[in-house]
Amino acid sequence: MRGLMQDHPLLVSSLLRHAAKHHRGSKLVSVDPQGVATRFSWPEAEDDAKRLAQALARRGVQPGERIATLAWNSREHLALYYGVSGMGAVMHTVNPRLFPDQIAYILEDAQDTHVFVDPSVLPALLAVRDKLPACLRAVVLMGPVAETPDFPVEVLSMADLMAGEDGAYEWPELDEREACSLCYTSGTTGMPKGVLYSHRSTVLHAMTAISPDIFCMSARDVVMPVVPMFHVNAWSIPYAAAMTGASMVLPGPRLDPASLFALFEGEGITFSAGVPTIWTMLLQWLRADPSRRFSKPPRLVVGGTALPVPVTEGFLRDYGVEIVHAWGMTEISPLGSTNVRKAETAGWDDARWLAYSRKQGRPPYGVDFRVLDANGKPIAQDEVAFGELEVRGPWVASAYFNRENEPAFSADGWFATGDVVTLDALGAIEIVDRAKDVIKSGGEWISSITLENLALAHPDVQLAAAIPVAHPKWDERPLLVVVPKPGTNPTAESVLAVLEGKVAKWWMPDQVEFVDSLPLTATGKLWKAELKKRFKDYTLP
Ligand code: ADP
Repeated sequence: MRGLMQDHPLLVSSLLRHAAKHHRGSKLVSVDPQGVATRFSWPEAEDDAKRLAQALARRGVQPGERIATLAWNSREHLALYYGVSGMGAVMHTVNPRLFPDQIAYILEDAQDTHVFVDPSVLPALLAVRDKLPACLRAVVLMGPVAETPDFPVEVLSMADLMAGEDGAYEWPELDEREACSLCYTSGTTGMPKGVLYSHRSTVLHAMTAISPDIFCMSARDVVMPVVPMFHVNAWSIPYAAAMTGASMVLPGPRLDPASLFALFEGEGITFSAGVPTIWTMLLQWLRADPSRRFSKPPRLVVGGTALPVPVTEGFLRDYGVEIVHAWGMTEISPLGSTNVRKAETAGWDDARWLAYSRKQGRPPYGVDFRVLDANGKPIAQDEVAFGELEVRGPWVASAYFNRENEPAFSADGWFATGDVVTLDALGAIEIVDRAKDVIKSGGEWISSITLENLALAHPDVQLAAAIPVAHPKWDERPLLVVVPKPGTNPTAESVLAVLEGKVAKWWMPDQVEFVDSLPLTATGKLWKAELKKRFKDYTLP
């Protein structure tokens, strides 16, 4: 027997409609590259989005057509988020920090017909002006420019497009399984791949994101996505904020600690999210002057790479700021797990909890985990055995855009994440490596991340990367590549000495090499693929 309930589709436009209708008093703030703030409201955000949708419809944009953006977190970008998806087209955010070849590749793969670009990142688009896809019809400037740039297609102004419309537009009643947005992986382990989200997956993901064990967001919050809107839809904060009717501050490109702190204090931010580098820099900046204190400590969610425990500890002990460690991926919309206190850990003292906070935690309802060994049996939940994490759920990708037969997706419906994890008795994961980065010595796996973390305990080591180098007998052996702290000159022996006794003998790196810097990807992650290329012909002594 079927239930007798209404069958409303879960649409991105319905989030904005809700906020505009029921949360008129919440504030929205957008900060431009010069640091000037614009204040607006959810009804005004809906008017922006409707006028943009009208303008795109007038230009003949069809359902499913891809519209790209190269932009920071701003009012204009928010209008595109809702206007493009709301009208049935596909919002495609592109990271302006990617290398020109990656940007050209992504625009071509997505077959974008329009690119909306923030004037502050125009050079990123001009760098690929001769490699733009043949289907591209226009470049649209999201703000004023001194001189119209030269592109082989029409160049338009977003403000002019929107000024020609009246906002009298009804959001179409779409099928919730239609695509609403497209985002490419950051390409840490290979060429970027497109993940095509649906309206349904986006709304269900946002509904979970706001829940207490993740963002814990309410209409009384003032949220600030520091994570860029081109990094997996700012982890869904622009949708989650509309769903809860929260106030939201879009900080633009100025993400230095002083600018962020001014927004935390000036706008009364209660919740924010970003990658570890941002919060590590903020903590250092706060410590430089004892008068820098939060009048009301915000909650922070951190993810994208592992969060060092000393950062979590410093924020909690010295500033009363609670950090939630989250794990996710582009393919999971991105939220896959958070590490927050649960029934079994609620009573732990701070020291015990802080040590545990290095883990990536457990999944929310909607994401399921499995970790199998080489024989297809679940691994032991003993914090020692490790295997590749597989996930499934309604906001997990089922295929990559344009590559529907990619082997990451198993026949029985699980997505292999490429992350190698251990499990503890509570079912919390701890990432020990990426499948592509584990070092395979004599048929056994060595966790590169474990070696790196241990090396960081040396007082003169700033950064460390463990990579495999070819070995005639063992196939691969670990090489430790180290960036010393400025003005120091550590020896290989002293670095190896800090690892001694903490890992099995056969895990010990065969050699230590010192370098000035390590290659990073556009999202600030250690770029192991590039580093491995540099040491491709390295021979062990
Ligand atoms: P890419 O895979 O190209 O880096 P993503 O931005 O989708 O693109 O990154 C997802 C990956 O980032 C995960 O598979 C994982 O390896 C890493 N990651 C994300 N959050 C964490 C975390 N909290 N701890 C450790 N690694 C993380």
